[in-house]
Amino acid sequence: MSTQIKTRPKPQTKKTDKNKTLDLIIIGGGPAGLTAALYASRARLKVVLVEKMILGGMASTAFSIENYTGFPEGISGMELCQRIEKQVRRLGLDIVWGNTTSVKKKKGQSEVVVDNKTLVSKAVIIASGSEAAKLGIAGEDEFRGRGVSYCATCDGPFYKDKNVMVVGGGNSAIEEALFLARYAKKISVVHRRDELRADKILAERALANPKIYFFWHALVSQVLGEDKVREVMLEDVQTRKKLKVPIDGIFIYIGSKPNSEMVKSLVKLDKKGFIITDDNMNTSTSGIFAAGDVRKKSLRQVVTAAADGAIAAESARKYIEG
Ligand code: NAP
Repeated sequence: MSTQIKTRPKPQTKKTDKNKTLDLIIIGGGPAGLTAALYASRARLKVVLVEKMILGGMASTAFSIENYTGFPEGISGMELCQRIEKQVRRLGLDIVWGNTTSVKKKKGQSEVVVDNKTLVSKAVIIASGSEAAKLGIAGEDEFRGRGVSYCATCDGPFYKDKNVMVVGGGNSAIEEALFLARYAKKISVVHRRDELRADKILAERALANPKIYFFWHALVSQVLGEDKVREVMLEDVQTRKKLKVPIDGIFIYIGSKPNSEMVKSLVKLDKKGFIITDDNMNTSTSGIFAAGDVRKKSLRQVVTAAADGAIAAESARKYIEG
């Protein structure tokens, strides 16, 4: 006689009803937001993630991430972010595509406006990241997309055997200068001091690269061209002497600007607009948490963004469960 094992039908996984009060809304789908979503989904919170453009955020444009643990050969930003996305989607995460314009607190609940539609939740995690800072000089906007770029990974291949310039001395500038060295004939890095801010290992590599040259103590004061960029005006910060340098493209990496506009009247920000939190990612308003690059912190990396996301989700869970 054969033994029949009776199985119960699998419970249907219900999609979150966004018209009902959610437990948690996560704003931003970079490594911080996706990791928060992973932890919140595993805690079975009713969670929705709002993203305006692409999952992965700025990290997805990094050519190679060499300091995220577990990838000894490094991993491209795109692949790492796709892997995190896959991990979260397996848990059935709901994603709402749109631009978040405001976050308000009303009667103990949070109201998040996404493209004129209001979502309501018990808690919110702001993981909206940051965007490239601009130099604010003449010609920068005019020639954007015609020689001025903020993404070497996206535009670098167009500059095969050309002369390009990279502005900045941080990790982004030096990493991207090294990436551009695969294509361009010559890369001039313009830095306002004579010491790079970038990690030593990257600085050493750039200084040893025969295609990379440096203009120390220099600022770019103007981008010049006709149909596209032809040259830039450099200014020596010590002598104020000016110098015109012919180039085909200029890549600007002078830091980032936080995407905190939507919460500027709800939570405390620092002078630069980064959200102030405590160690548990609580902002100055209860039930509103922040994680990743949008937060005031000392080390902005994918690994710290992911850690912030995990902590924020755990804090949100405790808040929601009272
Ligand atoms: P950053 O570390 O803030 O560096 C900005 C660079 O631009 C600095 O060298 C700064 O000069 C210069 N700068 C700032 N304003 C300027 C201006 N108006 N004119 C000319 N130069 C200006 O920014 P980031 O390189 O974009 O990096 C942002 C964050 O992401 C950092 O925390 C960074 O460590 C992290 N990140 C990490 C990695 C990695 O670990 N692989 C990769 C990319 C980014 P001073 O040095 O004189 O201030």
